[in-house]
Formats: sequence, C-alpha cells, structure tokens
Amino acid sequence: MSHTPSRQDFDHYMAPNYAPQQVVPVRGEGSWLWDQEGKAYIDFAGGIAVNALGHCHPVLVEALKAQADTLWHVSNVFTNEPAMKLAKALVERTFADKVFLCSSGGEANEAALKLARRYAVEHHGEHKDKIISFYHSFHGRTFFTVSVGGQPKYSQGFGPVPGGILHAEFNDLESVRKLIGDDTCAIMVEPMQGEGGIVPADPAFLHGLRELCDDHQALLIFDEVQTGVGRSGELYAYQNYGVTPDILTSAKSLGGGFPIGAMLTTDAIATSLAVGTHGSTYGGNALASAVALAAVEFIDTPKVLEGVKKRHALFREHLEAINRKHGVFKEIRGMGLLLGAQMTAEYEGRAKDILPLAIEEGLMALIAGPNVLRMAPSLVIPEADIHAGMARLERAIARLVAQESRTAEG
Ligand SMILES: *Cc1c(COP(=O)(O)O)cnc(C)c1O
Repeated sequence: MSHTPSRQDFDHYMAPNYAPQQVVPVRGEGSWLWDQEGKAYIDFAGGIAVNALGHCHPVLVEALKAQADTLWHVSNVFTNEPAMKLAKALVERTFADKVFLCSSGGEANEAALKLARRYAVEHHGEHKDKIISFYHSFHGRTFFTVSVGGQPKYSQGFGPVPGGILHAEFNDLESVRKLIGDDTCAIMVEPMQGEGGIVPADPAFLHGLRELCDDHQALLIFDEVQTGVGRSGELYAYQNYGVTPDILTSAKSLGGGFPIGAMLTTDAIATSLAVGTHGSTYGGNALASAVALAAVEFIDTPKVLEGVKKRHALFREHLEAINRKHGVFKEIRGMGLLLGAQMTAEYEGRAKDILPLAIEEGLMALIAGPNVLRMAPSLVIPEADIHAGMARLERAIARLVAQESRTAEG
C-alpha cells in the first residue's frame, strides 16, 4: 500500500521556503476544492490568480488530453504547432508583433529586462542601462527580477545585486521625473500592483510614464503577469487604460494552471533578441502552449470578459456589506476579478489572520502583504458560489472581530 502524504511530510521533505496552510487540497472542480478529509472549500484564491477558469475546466482538460496524446515537447531546436498558434493568437489580440514563450512570470520578466538592456545597447550605447521600477512592486524571484522588484526583503542576503536599477514611488510621476534621464533604458511597472497590495495605477500616471519614456527613448514594460488574460475585465489591463507598452509580460492566468509565461513586444524591439541571445528549454513547450491557447481563446470573448466586470460588482457589493456590519476594511479596491480589501488601522497587519478562519469556514482566500485581504477567483465563478463564499467570509470576519474584542476586554 502506498503511503498517503500528510502535511507533516512537507516539513520533512520539502525545502522550508514556504509555510503552507495546514489543509492539503486533493481535488478541484470549478470554484471548489476538497481536502484530504473530504471537506469542501469555495476557492476565492484561484492558485494566486492562476486558475482563471477554476479547477479542471473541461475546455482546458480537453486541450491538455488531446495534446498529451499527440506531442509534449520537442525543444526549440524545432518549433511546434501549438506554440505558433498561441503566438499568433496573442499577436492578433494585442499591440504585439512578436512573442517569446517561457515557463513562468519571473522568466518572462527576465526576458523583458534583458531585451530592454540589449535594445538600448544596440540603438543608443552602453551608457543607456538604467532601469526604473517602483517601490512595493513585484516582478518575480530570479535575481534580476527581485532586484528590479521594489521589496528589498526579496533581494537581500544573496550577495551583490545587479546594478543600474532605480526605484520610484508608484502613482507619483514627479518621483519618476527625478530619476529618468538619457541613461534610462526602461521603466517596468504593473498596471495594478498585485503583491504590493492590489493598487491600481492612476490613468494619468500610466499616460505620464508613456510620455516620459517617449521623451527619453526608454522602453515601457508592463508586467501583466497578475493582471493579464481577462483578470482585469479586458484581455490585458493596458486595454482598460489606453496606454500601450513596448513590452508586456504575461503568465499566471495564461496557462489556467499549466506553467507558462510569455513576453510580447513589437517587431522593431524584438529584432534585438537575435538568434542565440536568449532562450529556454521549455519555452513554447507543446503541452503548455496547447493549454494556454485554449485558455486565451475561451477567455477573450465578450461573454467571459463582461462576466468578469459583472462579478467584480458583485464582489464589491458583498465586501461593502460585510464592512457595513463589521467595519474592518479601510478601502475596497481592484479591477475585474483581482480585488483587495485593506484593513483599518484597528486591524493593521491582521489580514493574514483571516485566512485560517476562512479555511475553517470552508473558504480559500489570499492576502497581498500583511494589510490587504486579496481575492482572485475563477473568471467564470458561478454567482451562487460568490454568494456562498461571501457568507463564509463574513463568518470568518465576525470571528476575527469577536477575537479582537475579547483581547481588548482581556
Ligand atoms: C506572480 C508574479 C510574478 C512572478 O511570476 P512567477 O510565475 O512566480 O515567476 C511576476 N510579476 C507579477 C506582477 C506577479 O504577480
């Protein structure tokens, strides 16, 4: 008989860089998850904005199974049909002319940053190497991307960091104006900061960045790893803002749960990614590409995208109703189905305490930093699951409030 793993096996056998919750999900369907004990959960976490069509969506399962019987992987010594179809689908739906495929968001951003540096060297010279990004931003865990990211705790303790990186204040154009110059090669920004607390960019800020980049011949890179592929209510969030980047990165929802990343750019810029300059063994893997193509084609339809906007309104109504009752949120914000509820001063830093209570009530949710409760559910979550999930969230928050008043009395 094979041994059934328990949560303790994580501590015994796996590197200690995560602190997973105590329950172990074993099965998922739509917006529902089941743990080892058979307990059911409504999923507002979506694998951190990854499971864009919930769990085991028939369209994705079908694409995966069909491709699994056909061809998995051939490396980039050859190209393959699913990769070319996916690239064409992304080009036809966006500003981009060219696509580089890889396996994660960090890898897509690494490609974007390397491309921006190379483009600057080839067109302007070695001096043009400065990258501007923003405090509290998150761009991945490779050493280049943690250095560009605006959370020092992720890059400290690993030795010398890559140079030429400057940080400005998000939504503060003046702070960018102070840093930008002829030596700026690129600005990298999330149209809505995800890990940094679900903070949407002001439209004027993104328009201003576009102008500053044009004035200084710098490239504008949008990191849409979290906001992309329907999450914002458009295929990509830049389409809500009417600001077009030079390079865009995508991952998370792109594969609906299958690991894939993509970097999109224009013909003129892609030229700097000449043969041999960059690569990835798994990039454009046939299985991953087939699933992502099915996800993009399913999501980029008026029905799904309008559904996202409708569900956004429903989430907001529920969160506001919970807040009228319990007064724990200072602000509810976000776009589409990426929402954040910032805790009040009284509950400062307590967002993470909601998660285990929610799990007890049968709900999976997320945080974005210590102070923001985050939700990134399936883009097609049924309304009944939203109502039921919010009832569970309300019970969890009522318990948080009860705990708090006990401590206050005690
Ligand atoms: C999750 C995320 C990344 C990193 O993606 P990985 O797939 O974990 O490498 C990069 N940028 C943003 C905005 C993200 O949310």
